[in-house]
Amino acid sequence: MRRYGFLKHSLVDYPGEVCSVVFIPDCNFHCAYCHNKNLPASVRSNGVSLRDIVNYLKDAGQRFTTGVCITGGEPTLHPETLSYLVSLFKEMNLKVKLDTNGSNPDQIRSLSDRIDYFAMDLKTVPSRYVELVNACDTISNTIEKSIHLLLNMPVHRYEFRTTLSWQYVDEDVIGTLGKYMHPDTYWYLQRCRLENVKMNAKDVVAEYEKIFRCYQIAKRYTQHACLRE
Ligand code: SF4
Repeated sequence: MRRYGFLKHSLVDYPGEVCSVVFIPDCNFHCAYCHNKNLPASVRSNGVSLRDIVNYLKDAGQRFTTGVCITGGEPTLHPETLSYLVSLFKEMNLKVKLDTNGSNPDQIRSLSDRIDYFAMDLKTVPSRYVELVNACDTISNTIEKSIHLLLNMPVHRYEFRTTLSWQYVDEDVIGTLGKYMHPDTYWYLQRCRLENVKMNAKDVVAEYEKIFRCYQIAKRYTQHACLRE
């Protein structure tokens, strides 16, 4: 029986909704800052069944939960499971958000009518995605396809988010990514929090200055550039 990670309620994982978060483990990327590297093992030992999730949502959904965020890992690696979950949650009259790293545009396309909101990572410029995957030189085109699929949706149905890991992002990268944006695309720049890295006060100030400079650049391309912790 498949098991899932499950967070019963969140105010930060689905804009405007009180949501539950369902984690489908496994990922095809290996971002240096990933906080979910242990997700597969954790789900194997502490995951919950779909029946438990549904039972919770039937109760909480009637009281205060209005949406479900399906995240990972990378949920599109399991298309049948993902499709089934989307149908199930929609039948429960819940809004559904998908978090994706953009590596599967066919899944984005095929689910675009049923998913209410997409959040796609823009980790760096597409040409540098080879640093994040094992020996896949087509990934640049793949990411571009996913970017354009989202850009063709109404602006309230998607967001891009960029984790400001200086290993993959600098001001030039933000400038290049900005050129993809529509003037009203929601683009969240997120601070990169590395586990086990302690920063002194001077480093923190320097970090926030860099973040602010990136934000200023992002704002040139979209009125909806936002900062997120
Ligand atoms: S895409 Fe997300 S889940 Fe996958 S390695 Fe990167 S940060 Fe982790």
